[in-house]
Amino acid sequence: MIERPASVVKELLENALDAGARSVTIAVEEAGRKLIEVADDGSGVPSDELELAVSRHATSKLVRSDDLFSISTLGFRGEALASIGSVSRMTVTSRVHAEKEGARLRVEGGIPGKLTKVGTTVGTTVRVEDLFYNVPARLKFLKSDTTERRATDSLVTRYALAYPERRFKLSDGKNVVLQTAGDGDWRAILAALYGVDVAKQLLEIQSEEEGFRLTGFISPTSLTRSNRKEITFFINGRWVHDVSLNTALLQAYHTLLMVGRYPLTALFLDIPADVVDVNVHPAKAEVRFRNPDKVFSFVQRAVRRALLAYSPVPNVAPSLWGTSRTVPAEQSRHVGLDWAIGHDEQLPVDSRESGIGDRELGSGSRESEVVDHPITQSPNRQLPIETIPLLRLIGQIGATYLVAEGPDGLYLIDQHAAHERILFEKLMTQHAMKNIPSQALLTPAVVTIPPHSANLLTTNLPILQHFGFDVEEFGPNTFQVRAMPALFMGSDPSAALRALVEDFEEDESPLQSEVEAKLAARVCKRMAVKAGQALSIDEQRALLNDLEACDSPRTCPHGRPTMIHLSVDMLERQFGRRGAR
Ligand code: ADP
Ligand code: MG
Repeated sequence: MIERPASVVKELLENALDAGARSVTIAVEEAGRKLIEVADDGSGVPSDELELAVSRHATSKLVRSDDLFSISTLGFRGEALASIGSVSRMTVTSRVHAEKEGARLRVEGGIPGKLTKVGTTVGTTVRVEDLFYNVPARLKFLKSDTTERRATDSLVTRYALAYPERRFKLSDGKNVVLQTAGDGDWRAILAALYGVDVAKQLLEIQSEEEGFRLTGFISPTSLTRSNRKEITFFINGRWVHDVSLNTALLQAYHTLLMVGRYPLTALFLDIPADVVDVNVHPAKAEVRFRNPDKVFSFVQRAVRRALLAYSPVPNVAPSLWGTSRTVPAEQSRHVGLDWAIGHDEQLPVDSRESGIGDRELGSGSRESEVVDHPITQSPNRQLPIETIPLLRLIGQIGATYLVAEGPDGLYLIDQHAAHERILFEKLMTQHAMKNIPSQALLTPAVVTIPPHSANLLTTNLPILQHFGFDVEEFGPNTFQVRAMPALFMGSDPSAALRALVEDFEEDESPLQSEVEAKLAARVCKRMAVKAGQALSIDEQRALLNDLEACDSPRTCPHGRPTMIHLSVDMLERQFGRRGAR
């Protein structure tokens, strides 16, 4: 079913790849409303078959496939061209090697015109104009140009990744949005998409078992996203969305990532065609496996193995407080357990999983312990005391936590979370006063980001300006940061920019203020001091003072605790001083 421009592009792209194209050129104008053109150098369609190709149920591919469920070719329903032709003005031009001339056929609203002979190179060009011109209802359902463009961009991006040995070129009529060399160099494509620094960090996977093969890359636990949009699966060369595959993947990361953080992956699963049925729901590209458990456990094991090979297993420390709950490391290896549940989202916000995901630059060997925050369990939980008393600094431990004493006991403060909170409140105060001091960078930072995000960034440049960022376009998918909020001076401007664009996509909230608060929280997280960073006594003291001055010092802007409080009362009980006989 053709629902939007991206579905047209997907069908045409898959046809081109099916036809063995080495090079595919895609042009999308006005987000695909005006024009979508896909040109390939594949095998082409013989002149006398062109009329058949654009009619319904005309596939040349079924004959080649013995199993109806086979997906060794990308599509075989034989209705894509017909469907596209019925909701647009479509022109197909094609030539096969064996013929001297090619043929052209125009279909308008489903009605084919006369076949004409044309001189053209071998291959096929499908030009789709005025999509949905005769289906106003569907036209009405299209999202904003930005959203539709993003869907197309990320689709092409993913196919470019899946087929590194083919050349892809995507343009929007004026500019080239994406271009790959087709020389099989994966890392180069990754670098073009995500920037060199991200591409360098991605871990490669290659795993094979009983006819199943998983290749591709996954992000290390230190590189995460706040949504699942960068999780990509291909099965036998076809992009699919499958909730259970995602779950298998997230299971593999379980306990290694912070709550609400997701990996960035592109995984290519090759499995015997008789094990999967991809065509169950063509529009949604859902899959049905004959033997799901087997597939999922294979994926999970392969990913987990790759992850553990690069990042050490977090130690599960014995529970220190009576109230804490540890997550056995083994649990995540149990396959088939809770497949349906996205664990990462089920944890309550105020329980803290101090996995290494949070320690962006941390050493990666921290305790993986879920500590139920004592505040939530104390008898006065209905009356949470928001502010904190004056604290006496004792020092820093593990270059990660500050230890302090208050009138009512001991405080352990997570320096990163605390700093996040401080930066956030300062930034939001300045923002409310419409005065965020901005400071020019001596050397502007140049940052490359993926095409779909680049798009969004361009549209959102004015918001960034409000926040004291001076960002300019600097070439395709590349931006230059020339100034940033004075508050963040000394931090990495490109990290800030990446944090900013990371989920513009999610920020489709109608409330501007909400969008801005989320934006601010994200940048502050990125700019805050990291765990594992030794702080001078003065810095520690300043951090404590600033935290005391915060309106909500007990949680970071994302709702996680900044501190653990061990009350005198609790200490006495733990040491058996009270209630002891
Ligand atoms: P399907 O791909 O499911 O077979 P389509 O409607 O997408 O159905 O295409 C119909 C037929 O047109 C294909 O089976 C193929 O023979 C031919 N065709 C479509 N696009 C191309 C192309 N880019 N190159 C060569 N042949 C093509
Ligand atoms: Mg097709």
